[in-house]
Amino acid sequence: MIEKVLIANRGEIALRILRACRELKIDVVAAYSTADREQKHVLLAEEAVCIGPAPSPQSYLNMAALMSTAEVTGATAIHPGYGFLSENADFAESVEKSGFIFIGPRPETIRLMGDKTSAIQEMSAAGVPCVPGSGEALKDDDAENRAIAKDIGYPVIIKAVGGGGGRGMHVVYEPSNLAGAIDMARREAASAFGNPEVYMEKYLEKPRHVEIQVLCDSYNNAIHLGERDCSLQRRNQKVMEEAPAPGITPEQRAEIGELCVAACKRINYRGAGTFEFLYEDGEFHFIEMNTRIQVEHPVTEMITGVDLVAEQLRIAAGEKLRWTQDEIEITGHAIECRINAEHPRTFVPSPGKIEKYHAPGGPGIRIDSHAYGGYTVPPHYDSLIGKLIVYGENRDSARARCRTALSEVVVEGIHTNVELHDYILQQEAHAKGGVHIHYLEQLLAESG
Ligand code: ADP
Repeated sequence: MIEKVLIANRGEIALRILRACRELKIDVVAAYSTADREQKHVLLAEEAVCIGPAPSPQSYLNMAALMSTAEVTGATAIHPGYGFLSENADFAESVEKSGFIFIGPRPETIRLMGDKTSAIQEMSAAGVPCVPGSGEALKDDDAENRAIAKDIGYPVIIKAVGGGGGRGMHVVYEPSNLAGAIDMARREAASAFGNPEVYMEKYLEKPRHVEIQVLCDSYNNAIHLGERDCSLQRRNQKVMEEAPAPGITPEQRAEIGELCVAACKRINYRGAGTFEFLYEDGEFHFIEMNTRIQVEHPVTEMITGVDLVAEQLRIAAGEKLRWTQDEIEITGHAIECRINAEHPRTFVPSPGKIEKYHAPGGPGIRIDSHAYGGYTVPPHYDSLIGKLIVYGENRDSARARCRTALSEVVVEGIHTNVELHDYILQQEAHAKGGVHIHYLEQLLAESG
């Protein structure tokens, strides 16, 4: 097994990694910024090292500081969590070149999947259904680009090859706007991702976001753990997720899951990963792969009983997968609410001191949170202060349990979006299930 893991992250995921390490008898080093001295995982870790000031470029994105901290503390592996450096191929490469274990896929896999067009090409070749599109970066040729758009059929969407975080995308409804949108997308892509290349896809108007979790070892064994529905989004940010996805049949799950497994084998994938799809009219369309653990991983853990973070650690240590596909069984239903420090209606971030904190409990309730009474949410990072994950024997019982749990949450001193989650759960459309990715924004616009 790995002896000591440096956690190159903060917040709830850092605590999640610490807990998994504890169970596997692995020591941890918390690498934290000056704004995070009071973080729960920092207080609990065997060792904690301040790696720099609050702004993330000087701390959680500071590769040199992280590597030297690993060196001086004798850590043997680095877990990047999600966000920050988790999908940075250069970081993964320098971690491995310096003789540490990177808890994630091989650097070349991260690089391949980080380039959206090469990812799409690989997935198409593996037989994974993709959104109809250019399949490669667009050239500086108006006539050719118009021909591609005509072929795909309007509306189309222009996306950055090096994109991420839902940024720099432009929807085009008619040919006269195409060249302008491509120019604008190129400029935004260059400044946001350092790569001006863009590509084109058919714009799906009312899709759902359905994603498949995979797990692969270093010996090219791969399994999938079913799907999650993450269609409840605001500004491309997921708000509430669930597993399994309403209305997806076991046959559909097996079919798309097997294609993802085949794709993993083709690219020699290692570790935990997620294939993201837009799902519309009964069809899956691949959009991208996330080569890391995801925020919403717990809903999959609840319905499969697999501890994904512990498996990441075992796989990184060189262990073989402990399941075959037919041993993965999906039972019950799970819902995750992302609890953010923000106003529930205006969405203005609400950092500050949590004066009072009480977490809900009872059967089927799981809280992944670094928050506690007296903890101050710093203004420098994303506003996630915890996740409420609820398990029920079926979707209706999970929904009912989720509302009960939300009613028990006490967070005083700052605003949270707890009441937004309850509002969503009150909706008839949510009771029915299977809403599309624009549903939440429409609901918010209607309700003022
Ligand atoms: P990023 O890496 O920036 O998150 P994605 O390719 O995952 O980019 O797309 C982010 C979001 O943008 C999707 O979840 C979806 O809401 C929207 N989107 C992306 N591609 C399309 C498309 N072809 N049609 C409709 N919506 C899309």
